Amino acid sequence: MRKPIIAGNWKMNKTPSETLKLLQGLVKELWDIDGVDVLVCPPFTSLAPAGELLKGSAIKLGAQNMHWEEKGAYTGEISADMLLDCGCSYVILGHSERRMIFRETNEEINKKVKTALKKGLHVVLCIGEVLEERNEGKTMQVVKEQLLDSLVGLSVEEMKGVVVAYEPAWAIGTGKTATADDAEDVIKEIREIIKETWDGDIAEKTRILYGGSVKASNIKELMSQPDIDGALVGGASLKTEDFVPIVKY
Ligand code: PEP
Repeated sequence: MRKPIIAGNWKMNKTPSETLKLLQGLVKELWDIDGVDVLVCPPFTSLAPAGELLKGSAIKLGAQNMHWEEKGAYTGEISADMLLDCGCSYVILGHSERRMIFRETNEEINKKVKTALKKGLHVVLCIGEVLEERNEGKTMQVVKEQLLDSLVGLSVEEMKGVVVAYEPAWAIGTGKTATADDAEDVIKEIREIIKETWDGDIAEKTRILYGGSVKASNIKELMSQPDIDGALVGGASLKTEDFVPIVKY
């Protein structure tokens, strides 16, 4: 039985003081939540105060990105150790905004995944097609390539630290959601690829999330699909009154 995860990706929103305000609302409702892993991923500047506030809570803290090098002359970058020191246990890697706006490649994402896992962080690896690729019938081809190239070289043991998030880029922040059936079809195939590439046991254990305009009104249908193990939530993770009902669906 895979434990569901509801993860909030705050993107470039919330100053440190706004972060504390939002978290105070969330901890009131979710401090010792069980039966579901709840993850919040604020911006880098909010991680240290968020980590302090969440100490002792069941709510987990994650970052939205990191660098693959451990330290050194990489101006403007953030290392895995810095995230760990702030109390992070997760890091989102390969988000479509990083792939599209910042031109991150699968090769770079793979280096980040390996460093994160080596350091003991769990990875939420994002994969998903853009609208043009979907219209051309290339969804599975793109998703497979992103999955395998971002995770190339990982052992079964290392795969235990990976959560996959299928996020069709055309559904992110647009209000358009893939239908629950469409999302299930792709996620089921992702599980099959994990089985063929690693093994059946890890495929059964790997949690695969859906992301793309998830809200309280569609979470139930998405979660009723057998292969969908949770959601990566952007816009609706920025308000307590939107996020808590998704967690408690
Ligand atoms: C995301 O950024 O990962 C995301 C799914 O955003 P939204 O929920 O706003 O579509």
